Amino acid sequence: MTVDDREERELVAKSCRMLGGLDLTKAATGHVSQRSADGKRIYIRARGPDELGVRYTTADQIIAVDLDGKKIDGADGLAAPQEVFIHTWLYKTRPELKSVVHIHPVSVVVFTIVDKPLEPIFGAYDPGGVDLVLEGIPVYGRSITISNDTLGKEFSQVMGNKRTCLMRGHGITTAGASVQEATVTAIRLNELAEVSYRAHLLGTPKRIPDEDIEVFQKARAKKAGAQPHVGAIWRYYAKLSGADD
Ligand SMILES: [Zn+2]
Repeated sequence: MTVDDREERELVAKSCRMLGGLDLTKAATGHVSQRSADGKRIYIRARGPDELGVRYTTADQIIAVDLDGKKIDGADGLAAPQEVFIHTWLYKTRPELKSVVHIHPVSVVVFTIVDKPLEPIFGAYDPGGVDLVLEGIPVYGRSITISNDTLGKEFSQVMGNKRTCLMRGHGITTAGASVQEATVTAIRLNELAEVSYRAHLLGTPKRIPDEDIEVFQKARAKKAGAQPHVGAIWRYYAKLSGADD
């Protein structure tokens, strides 16, 4: 049976072009996925001899795999990424998720190398960024490729119910209720790391005042997981990165 999944593939490909175009990952490494509406398929950026690299991803580069990571359809020269288990385990254990992003952004990875935490060092500059810190950003302490079910399960347990997870000497994984959400979360996490990095270069970063953290905590509780500005941020970065072209 032929499935009309062009829209899903286009969206995953666009997210890849955005993250690649913004230099948030290293060449061909990294993948974005989306779970199908019936929950039986995962659309994911493929690897293999015919892959084009993250920033040049087209809809044809997106293959479908089942919830065990086995390829269901897609071009012959393309295969599921080795680390498909990051995606399958998050989807299996978290029914609320529709999309997962795994990339290797250097700005974030350096924090895992020196073992410095990302802290609430700004507020109104980007409330969505401070929100991620206040939610908690777990760190997966191993630096290997998540290439089997055992590691996928272990990784999903470390990430828990969070939107982000740092991976020591490796990269990041973000997840959300849509491709747009997971992508924007990755961009925000990267910006948090960029600002923190510059602050460390200038001096010792100071956390924002406790009373301000309290304000952001209350705002978090009020919006209960909703991500109000995701659409606008997604459109902005789609244009900026050239992913719309
Ligand atoms: Zn990786």
